[in-house]
Amino acid sequence: MQMTRDIGRQSFSASGMAASARAGVGVATASEPSLVQLRQVSKAYGEVIAVHPLDLEIAAGDFLAILGPSGCGKTTLLRMLGGFIKPTSGTVSIAGEDVTAQAPERRSTNMVFQSYGLFPHMNVRQNVGYGLTIAGVARAEIQKRVDETLALVRLESLANSRVTELSGGQQQRVALARALIMRPKVLLLDEPLAALDLKLRKAMHTELRTLHKAVGGTFVFVTHDQGEAMALANRIVVMDKGRVAQQGTAEDIYLRPSNHFVSTFVGEVNFIAGTRKAGQVEFGGGRFADPGSDGKVMVGIRPESILLGVQEGTTDFHFSGVIREKLFLGPFVQYVVEIPGGSVTVYGRALRLGEGDPITLGWSATDHWVVDTHG
Ligand code: ADP
Ligand code: MG
Repeated sequence: MQMTRDIGRQSFSASGMAASARAGVGVATASEPSLVQLRQVSKAYGEVIAVHPLDLEIAAGDFLAILGPSGCGKTTLLRMLGGFIKPTSGTVSIAGEDVTAQAPERRSTNMVFQSYGLFPHMNVRQNVGYGLTIAGVARAEIQKRVDETLALVRLESLANSRVTELSGGQQQRVALARALIMRPKVLLLDEPLAALDLKLRKAMHTELRTLHKAVGGTFVFVTHDQGEAMALANRIVVMDKGRVAQQGTAEDIYLRPSNHFVSTFVGEVNFIAGTRKAGQVEFGGGRFADPGSDGKVMVGIRPESILLGVQEGTTDFHFSGVIREKLFLGPFVQYVVEIPGGSVTVYGRALRLGEGDPITLGWSATDHWVVDTHG
């Protein structure tokens, strides 16, 4: 199948959007193969295994976030998608074609780097049009596409500015435009907002969501920031030491983390030690049925899922404790409450209670989860 040669006509199509709507949160159905398929893809740098053999499917129209701490293999994985790194094993397919041996410029992918990589001696217009110029597209067509793309990232008024005169956020938008103008089937973004301050980053989240909807393409976004992944993506792949730790929607990962790593990496969590015996978990005076093998477990509960000052019988679990710390954090007050068997952090409202005061707390059985600790 001819793909990257045909950049003049290939486009972010309406069918891409329709496909994503049909595919729901990006789980490809049997009748509709995913746009990108990784099969047992791995990368070793000598002794260091940056990415262990993994399978990954990306549906057309997905906004996928690859989330994980520094060094977990995110960039390596993204670069294998873009063709900048050759996998040690496995195959990469895009739109049904095996592209494992294909060079980056032959693939229907395009990458936005953290360092922008703009040409300082060119103005905005020349930077954005560069890829089409190299591809030998006619001048009038380049002009039209540059105008369209600059409008998309709201940079029309800066078309003739030198890129060195732009702010970090504006340079980032030029880098985005330069990639988008090539109408890649898959846009790869490697921590593109890392250099921006928090406020600008949040503004860019909104812009990126709008852009993704407008072009109807497939975005793969690498980040170490769980808030960013949740703010952007319809599907998140959490990586830990070169492996996929969990994948799913933001809700799946936040509310039903499948292991200890994901529980702690994504958001704040309290872990209360317990034991499982004959299908019953016992912890800090609480007890509930939970199928699984006998052994030590941790009961995970988010600080915002714990209610303070509840009457016994109104929540599934109920404890009496003592406030050990109270911190005003703006949107909420953070309490550390000592309960039998340990202490928990709770996000709540301002109460006329302080350190040393007794308090009750409780939560619903649907809000916690159990992680085996194998020890
Ligand atoms: P991330 O983007 O998640 O921070 P990387 O993909 O950059 O992670 O790196 C994954 C692992 O591979 C790290 O241990 C890193 O040190 C190692 N690594 C990355 N690039 C190279 C390289 N060119 N040579 C040797 N080791 C590398
Ligand atoms: Mg990286």
